[in-house]
This record gives sequence, structure tokens and C-alpha cells, in this order.
Amino acid sequence: MKLQERTWAEISLGAIEHNYNAIRAAVPAGTRFLGVVKADAYGHGAVEVSRLLERLGADYLAVSCIAEALELRDAGIELPILILGHTPADNVPLLCEYGITQTVTCEAKAKEFSDEAVKCGKTLKVHIALDTGMSRLGFLCEGRHFEEGVKNVISAVNMPNIETEGVFTHFALSDEPGEAAREYTEKQLRLFIDVINSVETESGFRFKIKHAANSGAVLSYPEAALDMVRPGLLLYGYGDGGKLGLKPAMSLITTVSTIKHYDAGVSVSYGGIFKTERRTRMGVIPIGYADGLLRVLSNNFSVYTDRGFAPQRGRICMDMCMVDLTDLPEVNLDSRVEIFGKNAGLEALSQRAGTIPYELMCSISKRVPRVYVD
Ligand SMILES: *Cc1c(COP(=O)(O)O)cnc(C)c1O
Repeated sequence: MKLQERTWAEISLGAIEHNYNAIRAAVPAGTRFLGVVKADAYGHGAVEVSRLLERLGADYLAVSCIAEALELRDAGIELPILILGHTPADNVPLLCEYGITQTVTCEAKAKEFSDEAVKCGKTLKVHIALDTGMSRLGFLCEGRHFEEGVKNVISAVNMPNIETEGVFTHFALSDEPGEAAREYTEKQLRLFIDVINSVETESGFRFKIKHAANSGAVLSYPEAALDMVRPGLLLYGYGDGGKLGLKPAMSLITTVSTIKHYDAGVSVSYGGIFKTERRTRMGVIPIGYADGLLRVLSNNFSVYTDRGFAPQRGRICMDMCMVDLTDLPEVNLDSRVEIFGKNAGLEALSQRAGTIPYELMCSISKRVPRVYVD
């Protein structure tokens, strides 16, 4: 029996397919495509999204940690998977057994991975991460660290039982407007290419896959496509400023569970930050911050009903919040309410919350079932 859900996230696989094709069309033919499906595919469901990407002909997937990679392997996903983040060296036998590619971020990590791989008699496939200005993970190679960076990368690729397939870097400002951001990004890309050229010239080693382009770079820096692009956000329908005609893949939907009438002057929800100013028809919707509706949005956004927008009133509680239906008399019990999606923009909602679409999508909790349409 299917439960009647109180609140759910509708995921359009058709929209993700559309976005995949739009991104493919925007990058040079022959460029490999890595789909970033970390954090449960930005809340969309990593297994379903990965199955779709595999069927569509993507070349690679990327996740953040080994648990996310194993979830995909357990579900039968066969595409190569790159772990972008930290994996304790103890896990090298698992990485090898499941054919998972690990990022190597410094010479010391390379040594740990190599030692473990030698111990278990297997070969670990890796991609080298270069820090060209993100100042997060990766071999330091900027400015006076250039020579040392090149030397350390060469040392890593020559370690036993390490098979280096690729090399990548990550842009810090590729989605920021303005000339300063452009200069910074172009400088990162030049440094990336310079380090690769030096490593290849000095060692004779060749990287098979060089990649750099996150969503911002796919959109604004075509020269950064190199051998493979690495978008996340664009796949889910955001971050293109309308340029690629992407479709939002997720709609967060709830229903009206209760309707009550209050006189003017009634205090609503915790803290009494909202008082009715007139006779008010107030709906309760069963979605709260435990579902991922950020409490910071309290009293500061509107939900979409099929009769129009209704302002949310009072503090958002853990499991529910209130919406003013006074001007929408046709909205009734069980009426469908969209928090964000096709009609209520996620970008505007993120701005009201002082954050970015990424965070709102990733915040939808596991209590909210994902329902796949088309
Ligand atoms: C998350 C991530 C991406 C994808 O970023 P988007 O902005 O969503 O395209 C690409 N590369 C790395 C290293 C990442 O961590």
C-alpha cells in the first residue's frame, strides 16, 4: 500500500535529462561528462539520478565520500565514480574492490594510499587534485610553490600500485560576475595547464583526463572544458541565468492539513512574531525545519497554491508552519502547496534565506520522500 504523503519532493527525471542534453550541447563534442551526484545528488536521490545519467551516456560520476560511492555500487551503478573528498587510507582495499577512483590531494596522502595498495596487492585508480586558487584541497602549486608542486605530483604518479588516470582543479569564482572574478578564474586555469605541462614534460607521464569545469565554468569559460566537464548544479536546473534553458528538477510539495479562523489580534506560533491584523483564515501545512524548510525563512516568504501565492505567517516550527489563506478562499484541506519548484522560484527563496539554491536543495531531509515523475 502506498502511504498518502503529507509532504514530498517531486523530482522530474525528464527535467534532468533535458538539462543533461542542454549541457552536452553547450560543450565541445567529444568532451567527457562527469555528473556530480554528491550529497544524494543535491537532494534529488543519487541512485535514481545516477541510473539516469548512466542510461544517457555520461562518462563519470562524482561523490564526496566512500559511503556515497558504495551506495551507488550497491545499487548496480557501473560508471566510473570519483570520490572528490577525503577517504581514510584504511579503505583502499574497498576502493580497489569496488573500482572507485580516489582523489589524491597531496604527496603524503599519495604515499598512504600507495602503501595500503601495495599491502593488499591491488592497484588504486586516482585523480590528482591541484590547488590553483580555491585554497581547499589539492597540491599547492601557486607562486613560489610551483616547482615543489610539480615535483610532488611527479613523485605521486610514480608511486607503486597507484594508477593516475586524471588531474583536476576546482574554481573558486567561476560563478561570480565581474572582471576580477574573470581574471582570477583565468589565472587558475592557466596555472592548472602550466603545472600539467611541467609534470608531463619533466616526467614523460601523460594524464588521460584533465578536468576543471564546474557549473560556473561550463557556463562562462568554454576554454575550461578540456577533456571532461564536471557540473552539479546545472544538472538540477539552476545556475544558468536562463542561458541554457534549464528546467528545475525538484519541486517541494506539501498539502493543507488544517484550516482555522482567527479574529484580529491573535498571536500565531512560537515567539508571537506574527499577530493577525484582520479576521484571518489560516492554514497549517505539515512542513517544518526538520523537513528542511529553513527556520530563518519564518514570516518572510510565500508558498504557491493553484489559486496564487499565500504568505507564510509566524515562526516555522520543527514539523509545520502556517500560511494565510484569507484571500484564497478556494484553497482547502488537502490542497496542494508548492514551497519551491516550477511556480515558486528556488533562487528567490534562497535569497530570502540569505543562502544559495545548493543549500536549500541539500537541506531537504530524509523524512521527505522523493517521488519521481516522468
Ligand atoms: C561540488 C563540486 C562540483 C560541482 O559544482 P557545481 O557548482 O554544482 O557545478 C565540481 N567539482 C568539485 C570538486 C566539487 O566539489
